[in-house]
Amino acid sequence: MSMFKDIPVEVGVIYEGERIRRNDMYVELGGPQVDKKFEIAQVKPMDQVEDGKVSIIGPDIKDLKEGGIYPLGILIEAAGAQLDAGLEGVIERRLHGYLNFVEGFMHLNQRYDIWMRLGKKSFQKGLNSFEILGKVIYRLFKNELSIIEKLQITFITDTAKIAELYPQALASYEARDAKARGLKDSEVDTFYGCVLCQSFAPSHVCVITPQRYSNCGAISWFDGKASASIDPKGPIFAIPRGDMINEEKGEFSGINEAAKKRSMGEVTKVWLYTAFDHPHTSCGCFEAVTFYIPEVDGFGIVQRNFKGATVNGLPFSTLADSTAGGRQIDGFHGMSLEYMRSSKFFAADGGWNRVVWVPKEVKEKVKDFIPKDIVDKIATEEDAKDIDGLREFLKAKNHPIVAKWVTEEVSTSATTEDDGAAAAVPVMTASTLPISAGGFRIILTDAKIYASKVVIKKDESKAEKR
Ligand code: SF4
Repeated sequence: MSMFKDIPVEVGVIYEGERIRRNDMYVELGGPQVDKKFEIAQVKPMDQVEDGKVSIIGPDIKDLKEGGIYPLGILIEAAGAQLDAGLEGVIERRLHGYLNFVEGFMHLNQRYDIWMRLGKKSFQKGLNSFEILGKVIYRLFKNELSIIEKLQITFITDTAKIAELYPQALASYEARDAKARGLKDSEVDTFYGCVLCQSFAPSHVCVITPQRYSNCGAISWFDGKASASIDPKGPIFAIPRGDMINEEKGEFSGINEAAKKRSMGEVTKVWLYTAFDHPHTSCGCFEAVTFYIPEVDGFGIVQRNFKGATVNGLPFSTLADSTAGGRQIDGFHGMSLEYMRSSKFFAADGGWNRVVWVPKEVKEKVKDFIPKDIVDKIATEEDAKDIDGLREFLKAKNHPIVAKWVTEEVSTSATTEDDGAAAAVPVMTASTLPISAGGFRIILTDAKIYASKVVIKKDESKAEKR
């Protein structure tokens, strides 16, 4: 049942998680084909916000061509006696949930990465204007966050206007992120959890600490704190830190308990500062994904908008699919770019000394946070296009991982003299690994797979991916 009688499509939580495939879409807004897009919330003085006003700058949905892909900016301006700029990130992230409540409308990602689709059926039912979407968003905000006294919403499809506002949006995101830098996990007794992405990834629980930003890169520890205080029953909640179980790996009893409860028992242990064994779960809207490269014993990292294949031959979409859905996959890890600026970034695995390949765009963004002595030793797509090229680059630059290879080669050859079979190294490990064969679904738990050769082929039947 729809919440609103005057809206031509249904609105409700049951539509959260609905995917709109390319063949079913009326239009796409933002997404990987569009260079500049954004959504941003701003807290304004009372007299600068007209409550309930919805504006459209540029063509409305009904003016867009069926099947087309268009840029979009969404500006949410809120006012209230109790509101301050510290709540902007929280208000902004609610858009993800609210827009996904709309039947036949899909919202993915966040900030400058937004990707939306309107389905043909919903367009035909009458969802043909941003005015309607604005009304829905307005009512949901006012129903759920009473702290917002006035709210106005602007949808922008005009390319020039988007280009004008885009740098301001980026500056606001950076200011928010910078605020959270400097505070340490050890200095607080409460972390925050978010389950907003459970509609797409049922066992996913984001654990947000000062030194581990949320996967989407949209919720800092301060945002978590603000959200839990104004809406404690909402998707973002406090996690008492509990006892420190393992300082190096970042294991806390409070996190384990919260993850177990909120994932319905699916996830029982989370290690914050490592990509191995019990890594943080990966939802689907993470900004980047880390992938272990066994041939060099290092990590590659790739961001969502990277075009083409990474150094191991696989694009972002395939790597993302291999870890998304709320799973914990050994060596694979969805994360935010801001986490790469943290001093706890894969601290248990060697931190930046373990990173061997990062796209140039990401490297530029986080360059100031990479230790000076390693920054030029990490390859980009310009330095290495495949594993052989990567190995050569790392050797030539004397990347710290190379010293580890020498140690391992020595110990492996020593072992081989004693026992030839013992030299095998697993090419893949996974806490749960589903396999479909002959009509059966087989799930291997704590699997380690050994192979003399690995062939990776693109699955052409799944041409369209995230
Ligand atoms: S990625 Fe994490 S913090 Fe961001 S919306 Fe999803 S669950 Fe919440």
